[in-house]
Amino acid sequence: MTDVIDGNAVAQGIRDDLRASIDQLEAEDVTPTLATVLMSDDPASETYVSMKQDDCEEVGIEAIDVEIDSDAPAEELFETIDELNADENVDGILVQMPVPEHVDKRAVLEVIDPEKDVDGFHPENVGRLVAGNARYKPCTPHGIQKLLATAGVDTEGKDAVVVGRSDIVGKPMANLFMQKADGGNATVTVCHSRTENLAEKTRDADIVVAAAGVPEMIDGSMLSEGVVVIDVGINRVDADTEKGYELIGDVEYDSAKDKASAITPVPGGVGPMTRAMLLYNTVKAAGRQSGVDIELP
Ligand code: NAD
Repeated sequence: MTDVIDGNAVAQGIRDDLRASIDQLEAEDVTPTLATVLMSDDPASETYVSMKQDDCEEVGIEAIDVEIDSDAPAEELFETIDELNADENVDGILVQMPVPEHVDKRAVLEVIDPEKDVDGFHPENVGRLVAGNARYKPCTPHGIQKLLATAGVDTEGKDAVVVGRSDIVGKPMANLFMQKADGGNATVTVCHSRTENLAEKTRDADIVVAAAGVPEMIDGSMLSEGVVVIDVGINRVDADTEKGYELIGDVEYDSAKDKASAITPVPGGVGPMTRAMLLYNTVKAAGRQSGVDIELP
């Protein structure tokens, strides 16, 4: 029997546990606060930001919503970040990506105060993660670690194949898997668009994390019996539905499920975890900045 890992349920558990951490903060008159900054007219980005705000409200995190015209000068964004950096009431800052082309994305990531960088993308936080001393683990790979732990998958000594080498998923995932720590101690292979013989790599894997953004590129023929499959992909494909599209993963679910001992569905797998771990990082940030000693799930 394949274990279908229910990301919604695991994420709900994390949110429930976070409420206890938030109560500890509230007892010291600290309200964890996340500022989201949107500089985009993209409806998908608008939806992501409003979902993050709703998530905050649900658990008792205050959400500050900052919107900047997408054609405003870059300085306006940098000034906004400076103000939020200086605002003692703001614990976490999230600039929704992508920013417009006239704004230097790397510069944006570098000006956010690393203590408030709840995405974990500031170079200082990336460096700390690589050094095994993470301040804020990036939400998607951190969420995957939590999913695996909850599903009882021990990564120690396992062959983990990460498909994708982006800064937000593939690279930090590979780093977390190789850390000498719980949820790590795996032997890691990172595959990407230039990888030759991908199927040979994935067939050797005990754990496959698919984060390429290519619909259903990994099917059962590329997997070994008993593999654990984590599907990060969210691909919008045309479909005969009310919205005119559906969301599918990077894994061909039915054939992969036949081989897997455990698998995440799309939607309802990794996605809810990414959202929950943003709340986690925001609460952690509030604890760090207020000096209140909180317990985190
Ligand atoms: P990205 O486009 O930044 O990176 C994709 C990576 O996949 C690249 O490193 C590329 O080399 C690799 N790749 C592309 N085609 C490949 C191929 N044919 N074979 C092997 N490797 C290939 O994407 P990203 O931001 O890392 O996101 C990846 C996917 O995960 C997207 O579908 C995205 O929507 C989704 N995503 C989901 C969540 C979530 O919470 N579930 C979070 C972030 C991203």
